Amino acid sequence: MRFFENVAKTIFHNEGIPILEGHVANYPEEAMAISSEMGVPVVIKAQVLTGGRGKAGGVKFADNPGEALKVSEEILGMEIKGEKVKHLLVEEKAEILHEFFVTVSVDRGARRPVIIASKEGGIEIENLAKTNPEKIIKYYPNPLLEFLPYEAREVARKMEVPSELISPMGDIIWKLYNVFTKYDADTAEINPLVLTPKGLIAADAKMVVENDSLFRHQDLVDRMHYKKKAVDFVQLDGDIAVIGNGAGLTLTAMDMIKLNGGEPATFLDIGGGASEHIINQALSIVLNYERVKVVFLNVLGGITKADDVARGVIKALEDTDRKVPIVIRLTGTNEEEGQRILEEAGIPFETSMEKAALKAVELCEEIKAEGK
Ligand code: GDP
Ligand code: MN
Repeated sequence: MRFFENVAKTIFHNEGIPILEGHVANYPEEAMAISSEMGVPVVIKAQVLTGGRGKAGGVKFADNPGEALKVSEEILGMEIKGEKVKHLLVEEKAEILHEFFVTVSVDRGARRPVIIASKEGGIEIENLAKTNPEKIIKYYPNPLLEFLPYEAREVARKMEVPSELISPMGDIIWKLYNVFTKYDADTAEINPLVLTPKGLIAADAKMVVENDSLFRHQDLVDRMHYKKKAVDFVQLDGDIAVIGNGAGLTLTAMDMIKLNGGEPATFLDIGGGASEHIINQALSIVLNYERVKVVFLNVLGGITKADDVARGVIKALEDTDRKVPIVIRLTGTNEEEGQRILEEAGIPFETSMEKAALKAVELCEEIKAEGK
């Protein structure tokens, strides 16, 4: 069974192989929110069970959250070698100085594991085998003995990496071999293994585990089941971002805004049982839209607990640099606790949806009148 890059990377990272900070996104707005939280240029990569994504257009860069949204929309609409892209990995973009290649695999002819490495990574190794076979190093560890760090450094030396890289390269090769044996892998591969100003980092990761051994790695298999979409989101033309829990309540909030002469900028349904994390994500999504002048958060707690919402709001407001007034209507389950939390943080709220909607529209008018 082959695993997605991000699952393979988590495993590699657990064994001490350096990777870049990254998070999985299941829809464009989520990628945008991640990019906004990370605050650095990112690389956005299709999570599919095939290689050659780069060539197919499944690996793209974004310098800001707006670009992240656009690029994610493009990649999520793609099919790569017949596989529809459903998940993305949003990762800090590495500054690449050089690309290497390291893989541990099974040489069926030799009936042994083999380490294949090259100082010419990035490109497909099959092509390199045709054009420059001498640049491909093969090393056969003895599967009955422990693979020792000096052997891994020997591979690095044969790759002809610069002398200062022999030790860190050897370290990664040694760890990759350990991943290979520990997880009963058919393949554990890093292509490219990149040299950056911060050192060597696994920019890509491939792991295939022998099917007959999967019962020993249930935790890995479980990680392939990604969570479903967390929030439902539609972008609109107005300037008041509407967030609610439940589609009906969100639509009602939009109607209220309209009734008072305002224009909604978003429909964003955080669903039931909204955690702090989801509130945080919802706010960071709407605050990324330039046109949003006021946020109207309409929560009637049922499964969703008002105190969770209150904590989420506070956390999200702390995290964002963009100061946009937020009008909150908060009632329902645990409302006393939720309202107390907001009061303590000095964040005003309403309990009536009608009043809150009117207040949001008035605030927006004031802001526009001030020409902000
Ligand atoms: P693959 O095409 O499916 O093997 O996907 P990879 O993850 O290997 O990415 C393809 C190529 O994109 C790499 O060989 C790199 O040249 C480039 N790439 C991937 N991640 C980064 C990054 O963080 N920074 C830069 N500059 N390039 C990257
Ligand atoms: Mn690759």
